[in-house]
Amino acid sequence: MSEKDVMEKYARYVMQTYTRQPIVLKEGKGAVVKDVNGKEYIDCVAGIAVNNVGHCHPRVVSAIKEQAEHLIHISNLYYNEPQAQLAEKIVELTPIDRVFFCNSGTEAVEAALKLARKASGKKEFIAAEGSFHGRTLGALSITYKEKYRKPFEPLIPGARFVPYNDVDAIQDTINNETAAVILEPIQGENGIRIPSEGYLGAVRDVCDEKDVLLILDEVQTGFGRTGKWFAYEHYGVEPDIITMAKALGGGFPMGAMCAKEDVARCFKAGDHASTFGGDPLACAAALGSIAAIEEENLVQRAEKVGAYFLQKLRDLRHEYVIEIRGKGLMIGIELSIDGNAIVDMAREKGVLLNCISDRIIRIVPPLVITEQQIDRVVEVLG
Ligand SMILES: *Cc1c(COP(=O)(O)O)cnc(C)c1O
Repeated sequence: MSEKDVMEKYARYVMQTYTRQPIVLKEGKGAVVKDVNGKEYIDCVAGIAVNNVGHCHPRVVSAIKEQAEHLIHISNLYYNEPQAQLAEKIVELTPIDRVFFCNSGTEAVEAALKLARKASGKKEFIAAEGSFHGRTLGALSITYKEKYRKPFEPLIPGARFVPYNDVDAIQDTINNETAAVILEPIQGENGIRIPSEGYLGAVRDVCDEKDVLLILDEVQTGFGRTGKWFAYEHYGVEPDIITMAKALGGGFPMGAMCAKEDVARCFKAGDHASTFGGDPLACAAALGSIAAIEEENLVQRAEKVGAYFLQKLRDLRHEYVIEIRGKGLMIGIELSIDGNAIVDMAREKGVLLNCISDRIIRIVPPLVITEQQIDRVVEVLG
């Protein structure tokens, strides 16, 4: 199919919920993707912080191929080996004890909200201004952007928003009906907002003091993105519940909601379920991706090349740049001008970028991106 044919079919048949960049991608390897015309791009979007191990990593490809030959899906009426192995692996990587598998970030957040209500016997949630937790009605209730929420009200009652990075606001807002505080350890969709050093630790203390659960949404920050396996590690805090998705499956759709034993045990048979959750194919893909992260030391790599990338960007010193911030390979460039034109120009020069809220360029490339590729991206941005 030609580029034009593909776009015409989208225009004719696909629901128009997205603003898409006008290219049709066909292939990818590492940090590079190729369109149907054979033009190559250095990918600084990575499917929105999903392809941490790069496109079509051989470990993920072979895990999917191998598993697909044996068993793709069986439901959770039965046991399967990859789910057992993946649950063990995730528990090893985190301070939590048990895992519930689902298929996306928003589903992981839904599961977390349900578990928090069941475990606490309370109903309300506190989230941060600028938060993004997903698009299903529960997750949407704790997502800040008015434009996303308004058309779909009424949402779940009792969601309160407090300024991010302000522990006093959380302390003052917690009441007898607060089940949980939910936060992104670094805000992603809000433009890569990094909290001050002591924030999450102080939130943890307040939650402990007031007997409120702390949910950390690591959907965007997880699996090495910020230079640690999970971003809470930067701040020395242990959440009660962790949500993960995006990079979990190495590109294969997958989510997980994980909790400490005393919370997890409140979910009994029948309390929550997912037909596809933790199916053998998804779990095999995730195991392949995690193995690749370990074998290639991609967590340390994200820290190292992320610092290199940040420095190079800061050296540009452009008059339209308000701030450049980042941790590992999660970088935001805040501009005083519309960033969409920059995204278009960069794409023509072979670099894929993403602009959020019209003003912030988000850079979340595969963790396998090379210094040479970073140099080229910086040159194009310059
Ligand atoms: C992307 C994202 C979600 C939603 O994930 P989906 O897979 O799109 O449902 C939830 N929380 C955070 C922090 C995210 O970045």
